[in-house]
Amino acid sequence: MVDGKLLVEKLIAYAKDFLYLNELDEIYVKNSLLVQFKLSAPMPKTPNLDYVKEMSVPDVLFNEIKEYAIENNIAEDDLQATLFASYVFGNLTQKPSEINQTFKYLKERMGAQAACDYLYKICVMNNYIQKTAISKNIGWEYKDGDNYLEITINLSKPEKDNKDIAKLVSAPRSVDKYPPCALCQENEGYLGGYDYPPRANLRTVAISIGGENWKVQYSPYAYFEEHCIAFNTEHTPMKMGRETVSKLLDFIEIFPNYFVGSNSDLPIVGGSILNHEHFQGGKHLMPMHKAKPLYVLTAPKFPDVEICVLNWYNSAIRLSGYNKNTICELAGDIVESWKVYSDDSVGIVNSVEERHNTCTTMARYLPDGKFCVEIILRNNSTTDQYPGGVFHAHPQYHNIKKEGIGLIEAMGLYILPGRLKKQLEEISAIICREAPYKGKNEHGDPMYVHKDMIEQLMKEYPDLNDRQKADEIIRDYVNKTCVAILDNTSVFKKDEEGSISFRKFLMTCDVK
Ligand SMILES: [Zn+2]
Repeated sequence: MVDGKLLVEKLIAYAKDFLYLNELDEIYVKNSLLVQFKLSAPMPKTPNLDYVKEMSVPDVLFNEIKEYAIENNIAEDDLQATLFASYVFGNLTQKPSEINQTFKYLKERMGAQAACDYLYKICVMNNYIQKTAISKNIGWEYKDGDNYLEITINLSKPEKDNKDIAKLVSAPRSVDKYPPCALCQENEGYLGGYDYPPRANLRTVAISIGGENWKVQYSPYAYFEEHCIAFNTEHTPMKMGRETVSKLLDFIEIFPNYFVGSNSDLPIVGGSILNHEHFQGGKHLMPMHKAKPLYVLTAPKFPDVEICVLNWYNSAIRLSGYNKNTICELAGDIVESWKVYSDDSVGIVNSVEERHNTCTTMARYLPDGKFCVEIILRNNSTTDQYPGGVFHAHPQYHNIKKEGIGLIEAMGLYILPGRLKKQLEEISAIICREAPYKGKNEHGDPMYVHKDMIEQLMKEYPDLNDRQKADEIIRDYVNKTCVAILDNTSVFKKDEEGSISFRKFLMTCDVK
C-alpha cells in the first residue's frame, strides 16, 4: 500500500527541487494535495527526503500516485489513474502566468536558450514530455552518399492514415467539442479523458508573430531535441503563403536557437493536423539542413540573397542572407508562384480552382548570423495509378510508411510506426529460416502488408541462416525504402528533364 501522507511530502519536496515551488505556496499546495488524496492532515513531521533530489525523471512518483489512486478508489482503472497523476503534477507546476513571466525574464537577461531550458525542464519533470518512453524509441543513421537520413521507430505514437487526415480538413468545427482540437489553446490544464490524452500538466508560452497571438509548447512525443510546436491561439486552418514565410522569420527572431518549419496546407503532402495553423521546430539540425548546394542561382532583383537548389532527395531551394525583408520577399514570391504553377510535361497539373501545389517551408539562422529559408516544393495530385498521391510514398512502400510525408520526414528524419519493431523482427526470423513462412496471405494478418517484402527477400537470399545478417538486410531494406519515398515526393525528378523543368519554374520567379 502506498503511504499517501508520505507521498504528499515527497511531492512537495520534488516540486521545490524541480518545479520551482515557491516557499510561500508550499502550505497552500500541500493542502490542495490533501484534498486530491482524500486526506485530512499531513504527516506531523517531514521525514528526511534527500533522495528525492536525485530523481532525474518523475516516473517513480508518477507511478506511486497512480497506485495510490487505484488503492483508494480515486481512479477505477489505469487510464483514470494516469489522468489523476497528470492532474496532480499539473497542480504542482507553476501557473501559465508565472511560467510566462519567468520565461520572459530569463529570455531578456540570459537569452532564448536559457528560457527554453527552463520551460523544457519543467515539461520533463512534470511528466508532460515523457522522457523515459521516448528513450525507448529505436533510431539509427543511414549514410547515403553526400547525404544521410535519420530513421526512428516511434513506440509511443499511433499511426495515422491520410484518408482520416483529409476528412479533418473539411470537418466542421463542432460547437460542443471541448477542447475544439488537439492544438487549441484550451488544452492547457485540461484533464483529458478516455479518448483524450492528459493535458493538465501542459504549459505554454505566449508569443506574437505576424501580428497574431501564438503560443509555444513542447511536443510530448519529442521526435528530436527540444521538439516544440507553435500554434495560433485562433482555431484557424493551416496556410502556406507569403505570410507564412514572414511568420516563420518572426519566430526565429524570438527563438534564434531553434529552426522552425510549417507543413503544407493540403492533405497527402501535409502534416496530420490541417485544421489548426501550427509550426514545428526545435534545436536539432535535420539532415536536409546539412545538405550541400547542387547548383547556385541568382535573382537580379534580390542581389543580397544567396540562392541554391539543394543536393537533396526532393525539390528543395535554400535562400540565405542578412536582410530579413529581401529573403522574406523572394521566398514569398517562390511560394506564391509555385501555388499557381503547372508543367504538364512533368505531371505538375494545377489550377486555381483545384490547387495541388503547395510547399513545406522552414526558417532558421545560419551559424554566421544569416537568415535562412528553405522551401520544398510539394504537389498532392492523384491519378488512377497512384490514388494515394503521385508525389506521396508509392504503395509498395506503405508497409514501412504510409502516413503523409510532413516537414520532419521531408527533411530526412523518419518517424516510422511502432508496429515495425515487432514486425521487422518477425520478418528477420522468417528470412533466415528461423521461423516458418506461412504465406501471410490473409488480409486480417498484420504481417500481410509485408508479403511482397518477405517474398522478395526470401528469393534474394535463398540460403540465409544467420540472424545478424538478416537484421542487417532488413535494416538496409528500410533505409532504401526511406530514400525511395523521399524520391517519390520530389516534384522535379533528379534526371535531366526534371532539372530543366525545375530551372524553368525558378525562371518564373526571376531566379536563374
Ligand atoms: Zn484548434
